[in-house]
Amino acid sequence: MKIQTALISVSDKTGVVDFAKELAARGVRLLSTGGTAKLLAQAGLTVTEVADHTGSPEILDGRVKTLHPKIHGGLLARRDSAEHLRTIKKHGIDAIDLLVVNLYPFRETVAKIDCSFADAVENIDIGGPAMLRAAAKNHGTREGGITVVIDPADYATVLKEMDGPTGGTSFGLRLSLAAKVYAHTSAYDGAIAAYMSSLANAEPEQDIPPERNIWPDVLTLQVYQKQGLRYGENAQQIASFYVDPFCPAGLMANFKQLQGKELSYNNIADSDAAWDCVRSFDEPACVIVKHANPCGVAIASNVHEAYIKALKTDTTSAFGGIIAFNRPIDAATAQTVSAQFLEVVLAPGYDADALAIFAAKKNVRVLTIPMGAGQNDIDVKRVGGGWLVQTPDAKKLALADLVVASKRQPTAEQLQDLMFAWKVAKYVKSNAIVFVGNGMTLGVGAGQMSRIDSARIASIKAENAGLSLQGSAVASDAFFPFRDGLDVVVKAGATCVIQPGGSMRDDEVIAAANEHDIVMVLTAMRHFRH
Ligand code: 5GP
Repeated sequence: MKIQTALISVSDKTGVVDFAKELAARGVRLLSTGGTAKLLAQAGLTVTEVADHTGSPEILDGRVKTLHPKIHGGLLARRDSAEHLRTIKKHGIDAIDLLVVNLYPFRETVAKIDCSFADAVENIDIGGPAMLRAAAKNHGTREGGITVVIDPADYATVLKEMDGPTGGTSFGLRLSLAAKVYAHTSAYDGAIAAYMSSLANAEPEQDIPPERNIWPDVLTLQVYQKQGLRYGENAQQIASFYVDPFCPAGLMANFKQLQGKELSYNNIADSDAAWDCVRSFDEPACVIVKHANPCGVAIASNVHEAYIKALKTDTTSAFGGIIAFNRPIDAATAQTVSAQFLEVVLAPGYDADALAIFAAKKNVRVLTIPMGAGQNDIDVKRVGGGWLVQTPDAKKLALADLVVASKRQPTAEQLQDLMFAWKVAKYVKSNAIVFVGNGMTLGVGAGQMSRIDSARIASIKAENAGLSLQGSAVASDAFFPFRDGLDVVVKAGATCVIQPGGSMRDDEVIAAANEHDIVMVLTAMRHFRH
């Protein structure tokens, strides 16, 4: 079915002029709403305003623009129904073949710190979703139906199909565009619902507290399936990987798999943890992850060196690990890395020679991911009957934030080690104890129910790896509730400690640090991770 008439009504006007020009060049008649029509006319295009088309002016400050039988009839008439086609003809309604709409920027509006309630409400699009839902419903059959575009990224695909023999689009494209519409409109309404419920106890006429304004909208968790997975955490679990369209900068939405076996559920979860950790370093870094915990982290003057150091922390656990780098990989690094058994390697890029080396290990999954990609705006955990939702643990710690609690003052080198240990501890499951020295982890105690056990395990692991903890720095992700954990790390060889502080027994813990004559610095911020 050839596309003959298009209705364009967009808030995000990215690329719309060029797209409309391409449509006009293909003989498509253009209908459009106020602002969009003006823009297209300015670009020299012939465009009919919806108001002229329907004979009804835009009214109520634009609240009613396209809500008219001439529009909705044109969008909803079935193309395979002679009766529908007769009916629209009788009422002087023209069929619309292509709908290009994106909505008032509700989410962006309420994200602004000074957004008023009235502003938010005015940014609830009414006619746009109505048209989108109508057109998506009428995506039709193989013989024909409506093409509906909400995302400027799809303009090119539509034009490409229009250049085929029918001058229209395929059923497959129309169906996938329709699915995208419903994901989008439900996310859009979800954002409105979340915003309004976050104000449940506020007086809308009064100023809205800023912290409510920026609360992430839980219900925008509308997702696209990126890939089905063979199974979940275990073989008896069915699983899939979905992408959050509102986090286009996020990690796993942007990786590319260059080779290797299909990614598993655990591979994705572990890669996410590894990537998040490795990209937190400015220096060339390597992170080796097992079961979502870093089992070796190091920084060095190059990533090859960083890998060699990171591996030393725990060669046993690194077996079958996920290895992430924050710099492109050269052949020498690839050679060294591929000497070990690994599941996934992840880096911002690879030299051709490095790829050739990995190619010899067919099963190894090689992923690229831009290091700059952004952070998820919300962190979600499923619990029985609901979700726990929080903003990410993104607060950075600067040297100036540290408070030295001990009598002994840290050296510049110790401060560097402590900052490194603290960064790593953030990515280790609680209770986390991380020994470091010379830019590498020496012992990692993770996921224990008591801090003292994490401390013991971290020192045992260092001993097993043949690493000395004499003069090491240690980070604890939360405060020491008693002095016993501190005694363990000092006995193991630590001479400086970083921890949040804030325990009821801080005095006892700081006195213990002084008794041992070690450095203790406080962050006033903890990094629980579960
Ligand atoms: P324009 O900039 O062309 O004047 O407006 C485009 C925006 O208007 C689009 O985001 C579209 O979704 C929205 N829109 C189109 N028709 C209606 C309507 O009848 N009511 C409301 N509230 N918005 C509409």
